[in-house]
Amino acid sequence: MRVDNLRQKMAEVQLDGFLVTQPENRRYLSGFSGSAGVLVVSAARHGLATDSRYYEQVRQQCPDWELLEVGYGFTKAMPQLLADFGLAGKRVGFEAADVSVAALQAWQESLDGQAELVPTEGAVESLRMRKEPAELAAMQKAIALADEAYMYIAEYIEPGMTELEVAWALESYMRTHGAQALSFESIVASGPNSAKPHAHPSGRKISAGEPITLDFGCVVDGYCSDITRSFCLDAPAGERYLEVWNTVRQAQQAAIDGARAGMSGAAVDALARDVINRAGYGDYFGHGLGHSLGLAVHENPRYSFTYQDEVPAGAVMTVEPGIYIPGWGGVRLEDVVLVEENGVRLLSAAPKVAVI
Ligand code: ZN
Ligand code: ZN
Repeated sequence: MRVDNLRQKMAEVQLDGFLVTQPENRRYLSGFSGSAGVLVVSAARHGLATDSRYYEQVRQQCPDWELLEVGYGFTKAMPQLLADFGLAGKRVGFEAADVSVAALQAWQESLDGQAELVPTEGAVESLRMRKEPAELAAMQKAIALADEAYMYIAEYIEPGMTELEVAWALESYMRTHGAQALSFESIVASGPNSAKPHAHPSGRKISAGEPITLDFGCVVDGYCSDITRSFCLDAPAGERYLEVWNTVRQAQQAAIDGARAGMSGAAVDALARDVINRAGYGDYFGHGLGHSLGLAVHENPRYSFTYQDEVPAGAVMTVEPGIYIPGWGGVRLEDVVLVEENGVRLLSAAPKVAVI
């Protein structure tokens, strides 16, 4: 059971108990997909404290977890709950990146010294880095559906459509073909809007011969996909577009060819960044090369100049270099890869062309 791996981590840092509140971590450990609840874990017991909206769901989704019926009163129930779990006077970890200052104060007031709350970081996230076969299977489905949606939209998109119309067509395709949700708000950015890496779709009409970027993904069986394609309709936005597009394409390929398990995130980032620097566009590639994804669309590890840790085999990563020139437009290409000992395996398959 996944919770036993958390117990191992707890033992390493002398924690007797652990409270999991972060939604994807809660789901990863327990299978519970609801939006509210706290996992209470000790060496011997593990339970899920939630309110009555979810009692039935927990019984169905989490047969191995004790249902702790606390209603909306988790904070009030804490002293008794922790005592029941044998955690009175013990060290209990919580997720510092997820618990607000206000919640922590309320917990401490309720406990009144009856247990020591210990801030932790990344305990469950580190377990989520290496994907299991069932997780990979779900991700493959989400990625294949995003690929298919791109193929659909490449046929559908025409000059005169607005960014919002194209976003809706993409989203409705994914939803009607099995997506449970979108991984994030789809990006459809045209003309100068494509110079903003995270532009929101607008009522702007798309024209032939201008830069267009689509960045989107969907959720299948709880797991996310994330893909970006940039192109022009009918004709390239000048020679410069082809030069920028080819530079991004080469940068992406350099990272895909050179990355393997055990390299630091910064080293993989540099594979792509060097290509863009050499072409003279280094100032226009501000963000990191990629991120892990899974139950959440952005997870650790990262391919980034700021991420010095190694990226292990079994991690699923995006590779998404971009060049963004203010006032003109931008190009980003994003694919998903599985990190393996001797290289990376490309999981996304949507075609990449500069002009459609
Ligand atoms: Zn993306
Ligand atoms: Zn991404």
